[in-house]
Amino acid sequence: MTDGVLRLKRGHDRARVHPWIFKGDVADVSDVEPGGVVTVVDAGGRFVGRGLFNPRPALCCRLLTWTDEAIDAQFWQRRLAAALAARAGRAGAARLVWSEADALAGLVIDRYGPVAVLQTVTLGMARRRAELAAALRGAVGDVAVFCVDDPMAATLEGFEPAAGWLDAPGPTSPGPTSVIVEEGAARFLVRVGGGHKTGLYLDQADNRLRVAPLGAGRAVLDVFAYTAGFACHALLAGATSAVCVESSKDALAGAVDNLALNGVAARAEVRDANAFDELRRLDRAGARFGLVVLDPPPFARGRGALEGALRGYKEINLRAIRLLEPGGVLATFSCSHHVSEGAFEAMVRDAAGDAGARLRVLAPLTQSADHPVLLTVPETRYLKGLLLERM
Ligand code: SAH
Repeated sequence: MTDGVLRLKRGHDRARVHPWIFKGDVADVSDVEPGGVVTVVDAGGRFVGRGLFNPRPALCCRLLTWTDEAIDAQFWQRRLAAALAARAGRAGAARLVWSEADALAGLVIDRYGPVAVLQTVTLGMARRRAELAAALRGAVGDVAVFCVDDPMAATLEGFEPAAGWLDAPGPTSPGPTSVIVEEGAARFLVRVGGGHKTGLYLDQADNRLRVAPLGAGRAVLDVFAYTAGFACHALLAGATSAVCVESSKDALAGAVDNLALNGVAARAEVRDANAFDELRRLDRAGARFGLVVLDPPPFARGRGALEGALRGYKEINLRAIRLLEPGGVLATFSCSHHVSEGAFEAMVRDAAGDAGARLRVLAPLTQSADHPVLLTVPETRYLKGLLLERM
């Protein structure tokens, strides 16, 4: 089938700078198979771009190019080469492709040593997994490709979520089940196809490296620790001790493995606890720390949940601030897209006010550089944080 044509309604021209087209933006669309390529034109018939179409979800088309070029094998090769060039010099585990931010809307690829983990978010990308993997191998050489799709996205888009090796010939897997990756001075064990995200929270890699030296000579509290990434780095940088608080069993097991792998387990304690309860308990006990890291999961998954989310964020920040010794540092984050930087800062300010603490802003924090932000696509910016020092 040849490419379809999707005509935008008059005045619905955001697609010139933003890849998302919703059904409400569409005047008409020619016959095109779900997941197929459409040429997008404005109400006057002028070329806007080209993308992948799916009649099922409200977000029915994501543009991949604003140039009149074919979306073929060479196109994927060019896009992947550009994405890799943008990460040149980034060693170790890294996000190689980040969807809209790499003009590859619907596709995420993370590299963990000899393994690439590929995540598709749209039907169009899911249908092209093999083609995408071939382009990836053309750009980076031979990698084992593991596919892991978000089941929610797959349901919305109407495809079968993948969870396994691409081109696995049989029951024997063509790639390793676990990989050890380096991140600065630290080493992390990644279970392929296990754990959260694609294995690690790569979006926090730059922050782990930046925050760790501030833990030197201090007692560290790593709250929402996952596999103890921040704690491992801080202990390697000379922290006297670290307490990791985490509630997921798999993550706790990963934390134990990573602390041992880095030779810092003797100075670390891993606590299987609800962070809210544990922060309250530590506060009541009058505990003090020189570095506290607060890296919660997204409390606001939708716009409607914002108020409750901000209450949750404020509670943990208030407790964390109270746990800081004078001169102590707090690295606090929110990865909720719906919590703006302004709202986040105001929430931490409220918490500091309630704690009666004056805090100096050492730096604003954001997602790692391999998760770039597009100015015209605000959805690409989601992780925000503040590095604060108690005066
Ligand atoms: N800081 C980590 C990433 C944290 S992601 C890193 O750098 O790798 C958030 C973590 O919080 C997840 O591992 C999740 O299992 C954990 N979590 C979620 N709710 C929790 C709760 N109420 N108490 C403790 N941990 C929680």
